Amino acid sequence: MSMHICRHCDEPITDPDDAVFLWHEEGNSGPGWDVWAHRAHADLVEPDPAPMRILARVLLHRALHGD
Ligand SMILES: [Zn+2]
Repeated sequence: MSMHICRHCDEPITDPDDAVFLWHEEGNSGPGWDVWAHRAHADLVEPDPAPMRILARVLLHRALHGD
């Protein structure tokens, strides 16, 4: 089993029970990778900015067009 790296603190997650799967990230050239964090750090990880930008566009569109 490969070692996961915590997205929040960049430290390896040595205890499998302490590893929390966050999301899968698409790679620009390849299959992408899974993002993990320590259980205590999972809530501290910032969301992926790309989906946040898409969400912001949707909310802006709704605000402008009243949908
Ligand atoms: Zn951590």
